[in-house]
Amino acid sequence: MKTIGLLGGMSWESTLGYYRAINEGIKDSLGGLHSAKIAIYSVDFDPIEKLQQQGDWEGTAEILIEAAKNVQAAGADFLLICTNTMHRVAPQIEAAIDIPLLHIADATAEVLAKKGIETVGLLGTAFTMEQQFYKGRLSENYGLSVLVPNQADRAIVHDVIYQELCLGKAVPASKAEYLRIIESLANQGAEAVILGCTEIGMLVEQADTQVILLDTTTIHAQKAVEYAL
Ligand code: GLU
Repeated sequence: MKTIGLLGGMSWESTLGYYRAINEGIKDSLGGLHSAKIAIYSVDFDPIEKLQQQGDWEGTAEILIEAAKNVQAAGADFLLICTNTMHRVAPQIEAAIDIPLLHIADATAEVLAKKGIETVGLLGTAFTMEQQFYKGRLSENYGLSVLVPNQADRAIVHDVIYQELCLGKAVPASKAEYLRIIESLANQGAEAVILGCTEIGMLVEQADTQVILLDTTTIHAQKAVEYAL
């Protein structure tokens, strides 16, 4: 079994989900007392979030490169960045380490391809919904059409992530808003909706809607389990 490297803490609430899903995946595959070999580095999210707001992505890259090198030094055979948004600086991180990076958008696109889905909705932070590093990778590398909510709804999705979910709060009124926005993306032609932020699974789950949901935390963790084995 390979050692899985996790770059976590963005937020720690969702890193908990990775830790659980990866260990459950290894246990399901190997049985008994088997558990995952994990080297994890969990950052302090506050300074990173401030740099995001300032648009200082190079500043965030410096912090994450240092953290990724620590994960590698701890014996990881490959790396997961446990957040969609911070894949904004995945190229810089990938270039600074010697171990492979399992990109969260690639893992998600592979699941979409298996399901034969061509048009997909995307929920995440404003950075993920509006910039090209994520949407562009899905459309250019996998030929997917990616739909995002309108501006007012993008602001709702973004604010709930930073003001509630990253603080561990799942608010029923926000869940209702998310379900309305998911429904609206489906009405515009989305065959499925990517929960493209690693905390959204704390708020909505498949049982809440008929629309097919792709939870990136679960997908990324599952990919790590397959790669480790
Ligand atoms: N975990 C979130 C994501 O998957 C948002 C927090 C962050 O900005 O990294 O995008």
